[in-house]
Amino acid sequence: MLQPVSLYLLRRDVRLSDNPALHHAQALGHLIIPLIIVDPKSPVRPRGAAAEAFYQKAVHSFDAQWQGAVRVFQGTLTQALHAIQSVRPLAAVCWNQGATPDERQQDEQWALDCASVTIPAHKAPQASLLWELENIHKPDGTPYKVFTPFYRKGCLEFGEEPRTLFPRVELKAPFWHQCAPELVIGQSCAQAWPQHPSWAKKIMAHWDASETGAKALWGRFVSEASAHYKEGRNRLDTRGTTELSPYLACGLVSPHQLWHAAADLPPSKDREHFCQELGWREFSASLLHHFPALPEKNWDSKFDSFPWEQNYKLLESWQKGQTGIPVVDAGMRQLWETGYMHNRARMIVASFLVKNMLLPWQLGEEWFWDCLVDADLANNSASWQWVAGCGADAAPYFRIFNPILQAQKFDPQGVYTRRYLPELIPLPDKILAAPWEHQAVCAAAGVVLGKDYPYPCVSLKESRDKALKAFQEIKIQSER
Ligand code: FAD
Repeated sequence: MLQPVSLYLLRRDVRLSDNPALHHAQALGHLIIPLIIVDPKSPVRPRGAAAEAFYQKAVHSFDAQWQGAVRVFQGTLTQALHAIQSVRPLAAVCWNQGATPDERQQDEQWALDCASVTIPAHKAPQASLLWELENIHKPDGTPYKVFTPFYRKGCLEFGEEPRTLFPRVELKAPFWHQCAPELVIGQSCAQAWPQHPSWAKKIMAHWDASETGAKALWGRFVSEASAHYKEGRNRLDTRGTTELSPYLACGLVSPHQLWHAAADLPPSKDREHFCQELGWREFSASLLHHFPALPEKNWDSKFDSFPWEQNYKLLESWQKGQTGIPVVDAGMRQLWETGYMHNRARMIVASFLVKNMLLPWQLGEEWFWDCLVDADLANNSASWQWVAGCGADAAPYFRIFNPILQAQKFDPQGVYTRRYLPELIPLPDKILAAPWEHQAVCAAAGVVLGKDYPYPCVSLKESRDKALKAFQEIKIQSER
């Protein structure tokens, strides 16, 4: 009798440590085939280009630990199950529960696919979120719409403690492809993703997309930044945060690992604040869960009649980091060069797009989705709506970031701005945030505005006034 095999379906959980579904698969004691299903009809929003590059690199590093056993299958799970079953009995199909509505739809489909061929399906809960989405709600059963009570009451006070960690799965040869090569299905990672385009190579040079890379970033954070995280996380000119978001997004690290690692830090407001940021991630997931249209539609429908501009030239100058507002351009060029952007810069550039350029937030969401290595459906859409003022518990629309003040406060010596805008290196610190206000000084430093660096594409004051007026109008309309 042929020995059965188990399938482990990889999605956003590319790790051996703290992996509930993989842990279960291993406990079954059979050979495991780690499989990525690439189904063109999948309900899951396809990753943007940068996140896909990061993901593929992460899977390559995961695959190396399996000595090349990971397979990429183009088609449906049903087709994969039939292909395997024609050679060997299947003991179980294991995967980690999805965190977004579209992943949960896929969960349901996969469960049906397994049932149709009578193979046990094991969907492991709590892999990528600290709290179960269904368990966090107000006492009357409705979802929280405001962060502080969501986190303080829903999660910390009434929610269950985040689960403990699953032990790391220790892989032992032989792997399925070494002792049962007839099981071959789909392609190896090397065949499926032979090479990165040069833009992806440039971005990925900044990242070690592996579990050890995640550990190293956490180690750096603990020794250099964790003790002053609360203030330091806002500074553009220093590395005050973990930079682990792309690792969380593809599951090279779990939020549980970070939560428990943070618990080992000395108690402080900084530690609390770090845990609270993980709480924001949960809040975004909860908003998306209860409002699946979050990536496209305004949470607050009064914004449906907002008179957005249709100026694609402005959009292009924002995308290319050529708006003429240095801190905005530095943020956008950080994104283009590294696939990542500092949180403070994200807020500044998003506010500028929506409240100075008057462009719809969805255009920004789409650009971020394509360019961020950490693109995350819940965090990205909730954050864009938060900045735009139309989201749940959002920054009020009338609070418009002043990019000059933001730069002076969070990048006072212009370290961040100069790093990404080399053409402005010769300018003195004092004028770096608003060079157009000091044209003679620019010229004396050898920087010609309009040639070496653009003039502002919009007037900050006029565009701000226009945005506020438009907001007043939709407010009045909605009160009628
Ligand atoms: P740290 O400060 O080290 O925080 C640790 C983790 O907590 C982060 O990795 C992240 O998972 C979570 N976290 C931190 N801040 C936030 C926040 N404000 N909201 C939700 N979770 C948070 N984050 C993404 O992961 N993916 C996105 O696509 C994304 N898009 C964004 C778009 C806009 C317009 C804005 C303003 C923010 C966006 N964020 C997004 C949230 C935040 O900017 C990043 O999570 C953070 O910058 C990641 O850096 P870090 O890992 O060093 O964070």
